[in-house]
Amino acid sequence: MKSSNLALFILVAFIAQAPLAQIPKATPPLYSAKTITDMESIRDASLASDYAYRQVEHLSRNIGPRLSGSAQAAKAVEYVAAEMRKLGLDVRLQKVMVPHWVRGEEKAEIVEFPGMASGTTQKIVLTALGGSVATPADGITAEVVVVKDFDELSRLGRERVAGKIVLFNNKFDVDMQSSGFGLAAYGQAVAYRFAGAMTAAPLGAAAVLVRSAGGSQNRLAHTGAMGYRDGIAKIPGAAVSYEDAETLAYLASQGRVRVHLTLTPQTLPDTESYNVIADLKGSEKPDEVVIVSGHLDSWDLAQGAIDDGAGVAVSMHVPFILKQLNLRPKRTIRFIAWMNEENGGRGSAGYFEEQKNNLANHFAALESDLGASHPLGFYFAGKPEALNYFGPISDVLRSQGAGFSLRQDGVGSDVGPLTQGGVPSFAPWFNQQTYFKYHHTAADTFDKVVPSEIAEVSSVMAVLAYGLANLESPLPR
Ligand SMILES: [Zn+2]
Repeated sequence: MKSSNLALFILVAFIAQAPLAQIPKATPPLYSAKTITDMESIRDASLASDYAYRQVEHLSRNIGPRLSGSAQAAKAVEYVAAEMRKLGLDVRLQKVMVPHWVRGEEKAEIVEFPGMASGTTQKIVLTALGGSVATPADGITAEVVVVKDFDELSRLGRERVAGKIVLFNNKFDVDMQSSGFGLAAYGQAVAYRFAGAMTAAPLGAAAVLVRSAGGSQNRLAHTGAMGYRDGIAKIPGAAVSYEDAETLAYLASQGRVRVHLTLTPQTLPDTESYNVIADLKGSEKPDEVVIVSGHLDSWDLAQGAIDDGAGVAVSMHVPFILKQLNLRPKRTIRFIAWMNEENGGRGSAGYFEEQKNNLANHFAALESDLGASHPLGFYFAGKPEALNYFGPISDVLRSQGAGFSLRQDGVGSDVGPLTQGGVPSFAPWFNQQTYFKYHHTAADTFDKVVPSEIAEVSSVMAVLAYGLANLESPLPR
């Protein structure tokens, strides 16, 4: 049989077996030919742009730490709003009341331990956890009891915990981090930071120390939010460096260890602050929005460069590059710099409260809050069948090594309420080998941002946002 006849035979055989109704009708393309070539232009221009790099530099080096309620957080709101106005966007500030916690003195030393040379102490590197109450101004001195998890603590019971400082020595899994799964390692460790104090206080503990929920091995402590619960005594909490947790555990296994701990943070009244919201109006469906976002607040120990100055900067890049290329999306692209992600989530909650009856007009939401390392593609949270809509976007991103997509239950905390409300949600999919080495430490500084890598993240954000804003059909939701 000649090959043309073979083809005809197969076609006839296929038609013969398939009732006419089952032959798929030609469906219109999900992305127009122009949208595809636009996405390619956006990718190329983004990879060549240093806009995001310069923005995170300004946020990190000129403005600096941006803890909610601080003067720097207020300055950052002003700055980002002005930058978005410069691009010609419709800018508004959404008011939210935020916690205002101020770190004071924080220090500790081991004042009694096996083998100690008389008259000496050993310094412990630690940092107060966000929201912690203070010790008395001259500190407390107490014996340390070391546990590896909540179960071990509850087995010890009140008689062996009361009056002592509990050290939760749960190890951050650095092997998991090295394999690129830093977020999963963080997810395992962070419960002790958040719930350690409220779990130890009912047993009469005087304070808690937690081994840092992070992968630094340069004797840095990782701060982060801790929680208290109504009806449970509030006791001070601090994170110790990995190295100091190891030393305390070693010494405590040999005998009595006592620590002198001084923490003097203050919780001031809630302060007025803002989400910065800026719209690049869509040409065909201006009421439907695609959000691009990062959080503007940061912890106070460093510059908040990778957490999350980078996320704000790559989101600012989206309207910037579209303006530069003279491209107007069909749906509105809405930039949001969230306030108070780190210690309250008030910005996220305030936006959701305002928009909860308008979720149908939220076509998609993007959030970048895991640094600025090489992106592999993007995470997606939503209906599994929606993954079929993103192939052409991944095709455009494949040449920069970002051609993957992966479905997750959630993609970030600020868009979390929108995701829960059914809004298809996205985030860059990062290699997480380095992020948690610096996360919430004094080393989250601008030098950690690599120009070519943040340009790649900018490209993922811009290509994805534009593609979604121009998608020819609604996403399953
Ligand atoms: Zn963050």
